[in-house]
Amino acid sequence: MGKQQQASMSENTVEVYNAPGTHRIVLVCEHASATIPAEYTRLGLTDDIARSHIAWDPGAMSTARFLADTLDAVLVAGTVSRLIYDLNRPPTSAGAMIEHSEKYRVPGNSNLDAEQRHTRTERYYRPFVARVASVLAQHAPAVLVTIHSFTPVYNGVARDVEIGVLHDDDTRLADAMLADTSAVSRYNIQRNQPYGAHDGVTHTLKLHAIPAQIPNVMLEVRNDLISDESACRAMAEQLSRWLSDALLTLGTATPGQVRT
Ligand SMILES: [Zn+2]
Repeated sequence: MGKQQQASMSENTVEVYNAPGTHRIVLVCEHASATIPAEYTRLGLTDDIARSHIAWDPGAMSTARFLADTLDAVLVAGTVSRLIYDLNRPPTSAGAMIEHSEKYRVPGNSNLDAEQRHTRTERYYRPFVARVASVLAQHAPAVLVTIHSFTPVYNGVARDVEIGVLHDDDTRLADAMLADTSAVSRYNIQRNQPYGAHDGVTHTLKLHAIPAQIPNVMLEVRNDLISDESACRAMAEQLSRWLSDALLTLGTATPGQVRT
């Protein structure tokens, strides 16, 4: 592959939605897309598996877009499947190009050599990290909110949690959200469920927010609650109110963005 072709590909590896957004919240959706570029021949997976929740977070991007619209916030999103590169994992992690996900083996990720790993890292991870960093800098003093979804049944076990509020060492925003759940009172909301920092899911928060003391949180929504556009829109409206209330508590609301 020539350099020019590589360069044009890299331009499409990050999506920035509502770039002019004025809210200090910067939304990030790492697992927005199930797209597997043709050259990876679906990583050897069946079509069903390649479109399933192991490939992406169904509903997360649509919810994040509605949330960006509601808040007038910028949204930075990945454009390829997390099976190609999981943008919420560092290059050194086995999970960055995972060989087994839930009960499935990913043939196209077996025994990748250093050059193959390097190529994917440079093509997908580096541009994404750089763009998130630049958008956060443009929106300083920013607040980082990452949007994910999770499957209702994992390894045969049903999950009761409906919305997870995840954090790493900086618990300020998560604490504020959990202290007032009136905007989302109908849901089963839990701290650090169905995953937590010990599962390695707080990479984006640790990389971009914690060193800079940017208030941050990772939201995990059960994907059966955001299974179509109207459900995504309704969820986004509730998340918007919840986040706005929490930011008021933190004293970090931007003038003009306060809910009335
Ligand atoms: Zn995710």
